[in-house]
Amino acid sequence: MVKNIAVIRGDGIGPEIVEQALNVLDKVSKLYGHTFNYTDVDMGGCAIDKYGDPLPEAELKKCVESDSVLLGAVGGDKWNGVPGNMRPEKGLLRLRAGMGVYSNNRPAKIWSQLADASPLKKSIVDEGIDFIIVRELIGGIYFGEHKTEGDTAIDVLTYSEAEIERIGRIGFETARKRRGKLCSVEKSNVLDSSRLWKKVMHRLADEYPDVELSDMLVDNCAMQIVKNPSQFDVIVTENMFGDILSDEASMITGSIGMIPSSSLGKTSCGLYEPIHGSAPDIAGKDVANPIGTILSAAMMLRFSFDMPKEADAVENAVSAYLDAGYRTADIMSEGMTLVGCKKCGELIIGNIRKD
Ligand code: NAD
Repeated sequence: MVKNIAVIRGDGIGPEIVEQALNVLDKVSKLYGHTFNYTDVDMGGCAIDKYGDPLPEAELKKCVESDSVLLGAVGGDKWNGVPGNMRPEKGLLRLRAGMGVYSNNRPAKIWSQLADASPLKKSIVDEGIDFIIVRELIGGIYFGEHKTEGDTAIDVLTYSEAEIERIGRIGFETARKRRGKLCSVEKSNVLDSSRLWKKVMHRLADEYPDVELSDMLVDNCAMQIVKNPSQFDVIVTENMFGDILSDEASMITGSIGMIPSSSLGKTSCGLYEPIHGSAPDIAGKDVANPIGTILSAAMMLRFSFDMPKEADAVENAVSAYLDAGYRTADIMSEGMTLVGCKKCGELIIGNIRKD
């Protein structure tokens, strides 16, 4: 198969981790007889430096016209002073909106080899951590009006029934393919938008009798994720709640550097990125963990390119690398072998097999 991939290396550690993911894709294409064409796209701080704009229209067009987009990360202190609507992260929001990817899926799964890296008690980890957060990505307060009038700042939170329904359906469909449990997270004791959210979710539940729907307030959910994570199968929630909860969920699995994500809309053209940021503190030092980006590439193979065997091959290669005792600094523990970003990529590539 021939696939055209838009590649956004971005800022900070972005270029280093994306390089490793591309090397992995190259190995997959050789083994399985595919052709992956890459088109470089400038977004984030590097685009501000080059064009004075975090995502010029021509760059967005390359993404929309691709079969999928692989992104490293954007942002950094260097661009902290630029006006709000020109910040690197604004490029990311525009990209998500421009691609129409309204559903962000983040798995929170503990790798058995990294159980010791979780900050949770062993007894909690032993119960198992394996859930997915389905986050609404292009609505809510991040996309509402933002303004400051005198000494008052205003951010507007809006959700329509249609917006809730389309993400709600992704939640039900995802649960249906897993253990059949869906937890809808909101703040319906305070927010109108959350009361609407809850109403729509319960209306949809009638169409998915095989899925068990439960409701949870977001503050309780934040607590339950660390107290009893094994209770969750799929969590569906709005944009800001999902942003916060998914970072919390990533941490209990050991390292933010390990977690991939996919963002999809109506078409198979998806956006794939690790959940972490550009980590300016370790940029250019060859110490970043590229696994979150490599697993994002595996998700691209699985969900956008319908290549499940190829995705399995990449995920198995990561597992074999961990089994062999190699670790980047963020997940290093006693008795393991410390490797850098590049070496990590090379070792994983060496483990990719065609079954
Ligand atoms: P961050 O995720 O970049 O870093 C948080 C901590 O995790 C740092 O100590 C960092 O070294 C570490 N870390 C992150 N990724 C790692 C990896 N792959 N391997 C090893 N360690 C890793 O979050 P931050 O410091 O809050 O943000 C830095 C910049 O990234 C900011 O400009 C922020 O706006 C931006 N950001 C971008 C995205 C994105 O592009 N999707 C997401 C979040 C933050």
